[in-house]
Amino acid sequence: MKPEKGDDNIFIPKRIIFEKDSLDYEMGKSIFSKFKDNDNVEIIKMTSNRLKQHIPGNDLFTQYREGKRTLVVGIKKTLKFQSCKPSAHYQLPLVSGCMGQCEYCYLNTQLGDKPFVKVHANIDDILNQAQKYINERLPNITVFEGAATSDPIPVEYCTHSLQKSVDFFGKNPNARFRFVTKYNDIESLLNLEHNGHTEVRFSINTSFVINKYEHFTASKGKRIEAAIKVAQSGYPVGFLIAPVFIYPSWKEHYHDLLVELSSKLPDDLKFPVTFEVISHRYTTIAKNRILEIFPENELPMNDEERKFKYGQFGYGKYVYEKESISEIKEFFTKEIEGLFNNKKVLYII
Ligand code: SF4
Repeated sequence: MKPEKGDDNIFIPKRIIFEKDSLDYEMGKSIFSKFKDNDNVEIIKMTSNRLKQHIPGNDLFTQYREGKRTLVVGIKKTLKFQSCKPSAHYQLPLVSGCMGQCEYCYLNTQLGDKPFVKVHANIDDILNQAQKYINERLPNITVFEGAATSDPIPVEYCTHSLQKSVDFFGKNPNARFRFVTKYNDIESLLNLEHNGHTEVRFSINTSFVINKYEHFTASKGKRIEAAIKVAQSGYPVGFLIAPVFIYPSWKEHYHDLLVELSSKLPDDLKFPVTFEVISHRYTTIAKNRILEIFPENELPMNDEERKFKYGQFGYGKYVYEKESISEIKEFFTKEIEGLFNNKKVLYII
């Protein structure tokens, strides 16, 4: 059975697990009071460290779905940030996990059997730590990525972590912040003093791809609407077109998508709109996991039709054949060049 297709924009969990001490923090308290009287949300206060026992499921299929509907409120104890090359210097660990159920998602193999969404209540400690990293690199600018292992927008109404981060980086001349989303609940970010230090990227695709492979995400129209609002608020804006799939009419569909973006974006953008284009790829581990959690998936994952490429992180992946990659590069280069004046193509791979 395929998951329902909807126009989801915020995360309403089925259960919330509060880790020990998380209720001592403002965020923990506010999430608790938001949901404590909601009969549809189970509240669990942990007394031990055995978090996963509270998430049901005996097989990966069920564990995945139950995990995706679980919110964990915790504390980021180890304040050593992961590096995030090449897109940023460090990950900013606000949230991990995501309510979305995209069949191709790279997080499918990153978050374990029960991919819950975890928010970190000690946001002030996290931003203080960011300041230490910024100071270490002075006078250079330090860039932080807020969505390396998550989509932070659907939980923003509970955490306000992005809001605090945008404010923090807005005041900081030596740092930049960026994050990417497939959602549209960005209203709370529109009137902040970001000073152009936060770049908001929207992950976007053709309606065909979104309807077929992405579940519980915002529609294409909602994401574009949100991108326009963010651009009108003076933020640097970018589009991550990923994953690009080759299917009948793909050129026509991606052309229409780019035309829609170029016609709707304001003409007087303060910053060039950035583009990152990534063709579909998968690892064998990811493929096996996807076959278990989405047994009816129709993702193009026939190894014979792909080229095996060794990746920089030591494992290989199946990418499109060389000719197809060249075709994708040529197509997007030409289209973006022709349709956008104030733009910057970061990469097409
Ligand atoms: Fe993964 Fe992004 Fe989809 Fe969430 S929205 S499941 S992070 S691809």
